[in-house]
Amino acid sequence: MVGNRPMSTAEKPKESLAEALQRVYPELEAVRETAAEPVYLVGGAVRDLLMGRGRADIDIVVEGDAAALASRLGADVVSHERFATAKVSLDGHEVDIATARTESYPHPGALPVVETAPLVEADLARRDFTINAMAIPLGEEADLIDPHAGQADLAAGLLRVLHPRSFADDPTRAVRAARYAARFGFGLEPETEVLLREADLGTVSVDRREAELLRLAGEAEAPQAFALLAEWGLVDLREGGAQLVADAAGLLQSSPWSEFAPRDRALVAAALGPGGGEEALAEARPRRPSEAVALASGRNPIELVLARALGAEWLDSYLSEWRQVALEIDGEALIAAGIPQGPAIGRGLDEALRRKLDGEIAGRDQELDVALEVARDGDGVA
Ligand code: ATP
Repeated sequence: MVGNRPMSTAEKPKESLAEALQRVYPELEAVRETAAEPVYLVGGAVRDLLMGRGRADIDIVVEGDAAALASRLGADVVSHERFATAKVSLDGHEVDIATARTESYPHPGALPVVETAPLVEADLARRDFTINAMAIPLGEEADLIDPHAGQADLAAGLLRVLHPRSFADDPTRAVRAARYAARFGFGLEPETEVLLREADLGTVSVDRREAELLRLAGEAEAPQAFALLAEWGLVDLREGGAQLVADAAGLLQSSPWSEFAPRDRALVAAALGPGGGEEALAEARPRRPSEAVALASGRNPIELVLARALGAEWLDSYLSEWRQVALEIDGEALIAAGIPQGPAIGRGLDEALRRKLDGEIAGRDQELDVALEVARDGDGVA
């Protein structure tokens, strides 16, 4: 009986790292065959491969000239000499290639001074967390290079920095920690948590801070990630921000809102502000479609998303219906009927649109009647 049991998943022969690499990234065979110097898959792709998460962005490190390897790999090379990096496309997949390098920070939060390094280990030592500081050689032996015990932290679900100055050098790593913690459900290793709570995002430029916050907001688990940032004392959420970011994220999952505003920017604004006119808009109670249009038109889409997340349900109809309402007539029709060019034309069209929105008139003829009446009145023409 025992011999007849179907094989359970646990009993299936485990796929080796080399096999997983070949299955998920078959295009890397070309890199292996082409490279004259040792080359490695590094960073998030290694982490995700070990987690069985499938494809990720491909980062390659070469212990040699990245641009030379890229041009040997073929066409479509974009290289940046200053950073010794290059991009190539392999079988339709973008591959980032970098010469192994070290970084040093002239002062906390500064952009690093980058120097090339002879070995991949030096390149791994400049990275943010142990789970991102592993490499797989693309040579004969695909044995994991894991100098900081990232595989053990991956198994334990822990984010751990590589050295105590990590967050002081680059506080954006604290934002990255919230992003990974929310995405993977990981925790902070205790000493890392102490260091992270001392991090000061104020030492980095506004642009870098914003770029990392937008990446965090781009995660499916953005609400949890913002909550972690606040819990760790790195940001102050706006009043009601935790709830607002969760409500806005929910809203942006379905139409008509999902296509309306950039999700990442909307969620950063929901969590951190600055608040626009959304609160006043959420308190408004328009009684007619025309009032709703007057309140909402011309506003920033993010303001509308946040006002809706704060409870302004009428904005659903504004977005899917009233916003699209247009007249069949235009100014030319009024001019043809004898109205001179000037503000009376706008007044006539505005009133026709208002009545159309509120269902008081329909069709071209009625629109023209209303617009002419108002335009003539306004001009004092009999
Ligand atoms: P994702 O899965 O979101 O794409 P990733 O791990 O690929 O994340 P990237 O931001 O694309 O992250 O960076 C690639 C690698 O570069 C990371 O895995 C990490 O090793 C390293 N890295 C990126 N930013 C930093 C940083 N600020 N400090 C140190 N290392 C970094």
